[in-house]
Amino acid sequence: MDQFKTRGDNAEVIVIGGGAAGCSAAIYLARQGRRVVLLEGREDRPPQLSDLHSGEVLSPGSQLELRRLGLDTSQPATGDPLRGWKLQEWDVVRQRWPGGRETVDRLPKGVFFWQINRGHFYKTLRQLARSEGVEVREGVRVINLLLDRDGVCRGVVARDSGGVTYECTAPVTIDASGRNSVVLARLGLRRPEEKFRRAAYLLFFRELAHPPEPGVWQQYWLPRGTTLRGSFLAPALYRFSFEISLAERGRWLEKSGRLPAHELFLKILAEELPGAAKSFREAARLPHLLAFAPVGFQVAQITHDGLLMTGDAAGYLDPSTGQGLEFALRSGRLAARSVGEAFTRNEFKRAAFDRYLREREAEVQPIVRRLRLFLGASQSERLLNTIGTIAPVRRAVLRELIKTRPAIVD
Ligand SMILES: Cc1cc2nc3c(=O)[nH]c(=O)nc-3n(C[C@H](O)[C@H](O)[C@H](O)COP(=O)(O)OP(=O)(O)OC[C@H]3O[C@@H](n4cnc5c(N)ncnc54)[C@H](O)[C@@H]3O)c2cc1C
Repeated sequence: MDQFKTRGDNAEVIVIGGGAAGCSAAIYLARQGRRVVLLEGREDRPPQLSDLHSGEVLSPGSQLELRRLGLDTSQPATGDPLRGWKLQEWDVVRQRWPGGRETVDRLPKGVFFWQINRGHFYKTLRQLARSEGVEVREGVRVINLLLDRDGVCRGVVARDSGGVTYECTAPVTIDASGRNSVVLARLGLRRPEEKFRRAAYLLFFRELAHPPEPGVWQQYWLPRGTTLRGSFLAPALYRFSFEISLAERGRWLEKSGRLPAHELFLKILAEELPGAAKSFREAARLPHLLAFAPVGFQVAQITHDGLLMTGDAAGYLDPSTGQGLEFALRSGRLAARSVGEAFTRNEFKRAAFDRYLREREAEVQPIVRRLRLFLGASQSERLLNTIGTIAPVRRAVLRELIKTRPAIVD
């Protein structure tokens, strides 16, 4: 096997990104005895409220993955967003359908979704990775791939927080750097999901006239596929996610001119959900607001010579069912299995990672297909209202969406 050097070290696998997919892949590989270097662009910093970003919900499937990974999930929710990663649990879904009907359903007994602080959660995953022997370098941003003359990936070019640029080489690189992956850009792999081109905004509130209650997930289905989802994170801390098709957003912007995201949100609510608009207008909001557009995209090719893409860097659809972290954790584990096999054979060409493609197709893609079907259906107000009206159908759809698919095991 070729010997590759990473600034004086001898790494076998480079993982780009210390999020859910990257930590999952790195931990499983370290457990196989592989020397793994994980490069995370963000610097370690003291906890702050802006650690709350997209993806604050952990599905039952993600919880299972975390237990499989060996993370201590038994701790009760702290309710303190600065101190723990697990904030709240909910098992009640309160929905308002496009026709105005309101329904309340409880998830099957013992099934909960968890609200988390994402920044804290990722920090905890990186600590676990370190304790398993992964060399985690924070504040190191990958800026390019190292491709040889034949297009084989030999590692990455990275820049540390001091502005020093260096090359980091290894036989295998796993890209787990999420939706804004530098690899997707460099290799031109991103393919927008034309049918589901949506924008998403995340807003956090301190005070609200009618805040979501603890243990309850609020879901508003507004006209033309727009959705608003809200939940209680901690006392005096509420998260709302607002999603709208790009076509619909374009229609609003044409009508209203350029508006800051929060103003656009208020304007749309004033028309589509007038009962709640006043409460949001007068609410005390945290200054940070996150905007994503377009949310969904596919990736043209996820295995390459010496390179695999995992998590969002391998494609993402929509946050509707709160399962992006689950897909990321699962695909990281599957990538690690395939890379482990490649090392046993000492073979790192694209074909060596076929196992990853097969297992991802068998384990992750059926859940994505279910979500795609649901998203397509949710674009029809008539269908939504029918689901909203017939309780057994509504509960069956809910059960189907949250059903935990087993992992592929040896
Ligand atoms: C609006 C919105 C709401 C969502 N809500 C949920 C939800 O409630 N529940 C859920 O499960 N999912 C949700 N998702 C999806 C979820 O956020 C993603 O699917 C998940 O974060 C993917 O994990 P990942 O590890 O692939 O990528 P990420 O979580 O994006 O992690 C990537 C990591 O790579 C690092 N990185 C990036 N670029 C570089 C670089 N060049 N060099 C080094 N490091 C780099 C980043 O700092 C980050 O730590 C939501 C998505 C959106 C858009």
